[in-house]
Amino acid sequence: MLRADGVSFAYGDEAVLDEITVSVSEGGLLGVLGPNGSGKTTLLKLLAGLLTPARGEVSLDGLRLHGFARGALARRLAVVPQETELIFDYTVLDVALMGRYPHLGPFEFEGPGDLDIARRMLDATGTAHLETRPFRTLSGGERQRVAIASALAQFDTDVSSPGRVLLLDEPTASLDLAAQLDIMALVARLREEHRTTVVLCTHDLNLAARLCDHLALLREGTLAAAGRTDEVLTRDTIAGVYGVEADVHRHEATDRLTVLPLRTKESA
Ligand code: ADP
Repeated sequence: MLRADGVSFAYGDEAVLDEITVSVSEGGLLGVLGPNGSGKTTLLKLLAGLLTPARGEVSLDGLRLHGFARGALARRLAVVPQETELIFDYTVLDVALMGRYPHLGPFEFEGPGDLDIARRMLDATGTAHLETRPFRTLSGGERQRVAIASALAQFDTDVSSPGRVLLLDEPTASLDLAAQLDIMALVARLREEHRTTVVLCTHDLNLAARLCDHLALLREGTLAAAGRTDEVLTRDTIAGVYGVEADVHRHEATDRLTVLPLRTKESA
């Protein structure tokens, strides 16, 4: 289980998160929601151990993240950033192989076992056919899937190893509708087939409603609501956090909540 306990964080003098407590159990999918600037990415970075909380602590299976050696943590917990920009013309296979870094010594090159794992992860994300393509030439959706393959390649492949956690930052931002659906299906499949715990941050309420069992809703760095998706995504919480009147109902075919923003509260 991944847990943030009363974490606060500031960039210099600017306080950004205040006493946030959230957790996700093994195999769960937690969505971190909130308007732009509410602190979602910062919380994700704290959960990943990329930033250190000023107060409170983050733990994985009861052990403080700071007690883990970097490599040991990276073999259990991987982050997919919002956009993956690369300076050089790496191929798709190179990018997937980069995920193997926590398994290599300082001057060690990837071996056949690493190549095999990188290819398996491309396969798992539906990108094996792109192996030789320069990463820079891919569409947004393809890039996102390759970035997920690279993150998956970080993990220990031994089935007896403890659970792994994938942290996704706005995985569908800037993708067209078909690519958004592909990513959603991929995330759902990773949970089912690969025992992966997922935390994703997004400002897309419908994406969160479709995928997540639990949500944490941030507002200006504080936790406005947290709990099961149907408890958090209500007209009242949406009005309170986004200042928007919305229609929230259960979609018959998907049996998931859908959110239709109607008007801002000022215009009501
Ligand atoms: P979100 O992901 O919800 O848009 P962020 O966590 O990116 O929110 O940002 C929260 C706040 O912290 C914003 O006010 C943002 O301007 C500020 N912030 C984010 N990154 C930095 C940084 N590296 N230095 C200073 N302020 C930052």
